Amino acid sequence: MAYNYSVDHGVSYAVALEAVIARLSVTRNLTGGEWTPWKGGVFIHYVGSGQINPSSCSDCQYEIAEIWTKHYLGEFGDLAYNFVVCQHGNIYKGQGFQRGEANGGYGAGLDPADPTLKAQHIRVPTYGQVGRNAAFYSILGLVRGGDAPSSALRASIKDLIRYLRTYDDPNLRAGNLLYPHQHGDKTDCPGPLLPYTKDGSLERTRARVIARHGPDAVRLPSRATAYRILEDLERGAVPLE
Ligand SMILES: [Zn+2]
Ligand SMILES: [Zn+2]
Repeated sequence: MAYNYSVDHGVSYAVALEAVIARLSVTRNLTGGEWTPWKGGVFIHYVGSGQINPSSCSDCQYEIAEIWTKHYLGEFGDLAYNFVVCQHGNIYKGQGFQRGEANGGYGAGLDPADPTLKAQHIRVPTYGQVGRNAAFYSILGLVRGGDAPSSALRASIKDLIRYLRTYDDPNLRAGNLLYPHQHGDKTDCPGPLLPYTKDGSLERTRARVIARHGPDAVRLPSRATAYRILEDLERGAVPLE
């Protein structure tokens, strides 16, 4: 089924294409806020209700462009997600390794389960209250409620999480927590990706890899995966700075 393009938020598709697809976001810390992803980990998101059902990856790029226009005209002025992973398994970089602003959360004192939380915070092991955007990467699975997440999409999210968890710079390395957006927030997000955030299928932890391949197999495969992702990113229209 053809997707009905509607980049109609006051920014032309050409502008969005230039900004998102050709250059993607100019990565910067959109709010200047604290950025300590090693305290937390990763939140998983989806696009919303409806269906994308892309016939090719240019459909995915239209979808990303549309999301970008909303964010461009919104609070943060740029794509709020760190990474976008599509049904073809391609990984697009939004804010990348800079702090993003997509992880939502209740206002101060409004979380019914934990009224002592500060605005857009979450309680994690070891560090206590941390900001949802300060301590967590955001990965957007480019699916809507009516789409079934493909195995390519799930495999790339899994590789990306592994990559973030083993990133060379410890200040940018993701902690081992993996949550659906709706953990600590009132939202249906991440829709059809929800079960995969709970069954361990998006996680290839160090412990799991050691259990399967032995301790010597850990570092090289993880780096090989990282390089493959980087190559994929660079092969696509996704320049890494
Ligand atoms: Zn979300
Ligand atoms: Zn795609």
